[in-house]
Amino acid sequence: MRKTSRRRFLEESLAVTGSFMVYPYRPDPREAERMARTPSRSPYPSYLSLFEDGRLKQRADDLKEIYRNCSLCPRDCRVDRTQKQLGKCQATAKLRISSAFPHFGEERPLVGQKGSGTIFLSHCNLRCIYCQNYTISIEGEGVDIPDERAAAAMLKLQNFGCHNINWVTPTHYLPSLINALTLAVPMGLKIPIVYNTSAYEKPEVLEYLDGVVDIYLPDFKYWDSAMAGKFSSEAYNYPHYARLAFKEMFRQVGDLMVDGKGVAQRGLMVRHLVLPNRAAGTREVLRFIAEELSRTTYVNIMRQYRPEHRAREHKEIDRRLTGAEYAEALAWAREFGLANLDR
Ligand code: SF4
Repeated sequence: MRKTSRRRFLEESLAVTGSFMVYPYRPDPREAERMARTPSRSPYPSYLSLFEDGRLKQRADDLKEIYRNCSLCPRDCRVDRTQKQLGKCQATAKLRISSAFPHFGEERPLVGQKGSGTIFLSHCNLRCIYCQNYTISIEGEGVDIPDERAAAAMLKLQNFGCHNINWVTPTHYLPSLINALTLAVPMGLKIPIVYNTSAYEKPEVLEYLDGVVDIYLPDFKYWDSAMAGKFSSEAYNYPHYARLAFKEMFRQVGDLMVDGKGVAQRGLMVRHLVLPNRAAGTREVLRFIAEELSRTTYVNIMRQYRPEHRAREHKEIDRRLTGAEYAEALAWAREFGLANLDR
């Protein structure tokens, strides 16, 4: 008889019943208490029930009002984007998209067999000087489209077989995206939304996404305020807001849950890009995740940093990561007991 691991056995049994699975782990009492405070796991995707009782449309309408005096993110620019006034992100109230395609380079639980249905939004509210997509995020490469076309793009990605709709850098277009979602549901959209963000978010704005977003994919970029200010266009308050945002996202969706084939259905998936010379504050970021969220948080510790755009102007980040620096990050993850690292 074929030998099977406990984990594989769980995966296979749950695939038959069609139930969810979580990675097997016994939380300590403090984590168990935190998990008990998270909402119960409802059928997915969550936005379908919000659509049915009209709350999704109401949220889209409420959010669209924010465009008039924009406070969607911690930059708090207070410009009227409906009148084409520009804040720090440089985005008007018209949705602008760089590309939409099935992406096979994301984390395995998002990619599955058929890819993650990725929609790259133009512009960005964080504006990191080393951004590898700076032509999109900073220079605003892309095309303006009505919300109806964004809804159609989501449907097309679903028809390709993608497992989810992955909004990349969505914060500054949240009102338009939620409105596009209200248009996509009657057209048949029924796969989970992935909210792929730098985590430069306001918790009160994230509350609009409670019951809309099933999978949060935030990147915890810096622990230190001085580094955030220096490398991300004076976002000195980034660490403060990121900590609040991570707690709110975790409150809404809890730990990652996957189906029998390992495809993400709901939960928090954290990214952390390690920077050279400890500029990202990796040790503190990992400690925060383990102690303030959960040690079973799915964490992708990323090693692919390369000095792009204006990174060459700063000697701390003017090189790639060394093997020793990445090994150090993994050792910290082990030290804090993080048990669900991306492989
Ligand atoms: S979304 Fe843009 S305009 Fe609005 S507060 Fe943030 S940076 Fe400013």
